[in-house]
Amino acid sequence: MKITIIKGDITKIKADAIVNAAGVGFGNAIGGGVAGAIRRAAGLELVKECRQLSKDKYPNGLPTGEAVITKAYNLPAKIIIHTVGPRYYSEDINLLKNCYVNCLNLAEENNCESIAFPAISTGAFGCPIEKSAEIVKEILENFKSEIIKEVILVLFDEGDLGVYNGKLPEGH
Ligand code: ADP
Repeated sequence: MKITIIKGDITKIKADAIVNAAGVGFGNAIGGGVAGAIRRAAGLELVKECRQLSKDKYPNGLPTGEAVITKAYNLPAKIIIHTVGPRYYSEDINLLKNCYVNCLNLAEENNCESIAFPAISTGAFGCPIEKSAEIVKEILENFKSEIIKEVILVLFDEGDLGVYNGKLPEGH
């Protein structure tokens, strides 16, 4: 898998799958961060699908570390994979590994050749960007895929980009 690290807005990325750093009530994503940006860019149909999915399958919310797919509606991606990262100060940060692995597995199952990740848990959920980069590095070093050709790591600001570039090797 080729690893590409870029600064940008994940809603603009033309990958087969983009990952949403969702909250437990992923169907009711409001406000800022990745979830808000995705909801605004994808449109109301996404909110409807998420609400239905929550009602049918996750009445108590999507558990931390798990992932679920929806259509991407107005986004350039083909699918959205929603995952709930751990809250750094109150949950086990190792659950962040489950987020990345479950998203990669779902991307494979859905024949995605490319997948774009935001730095899950590093916004409202408080995980230091260095810790995020270490976990992402470990997961990507160990995940082998015949299907996924490119993993795009999308950072939102220059500082975060610098940390990822320092810790993660780009390319193969
Ligand atoms: P979490 O609740 O999992 O911490 P957030 O959405 O609050 O998720 O933030 C996760 C990371 O994504 C943060 O580093 C934040 O700066 C970044 N971010 C926010 N908006 C976007 C966006 N549109 N595209 C890519 N990254 C974003």
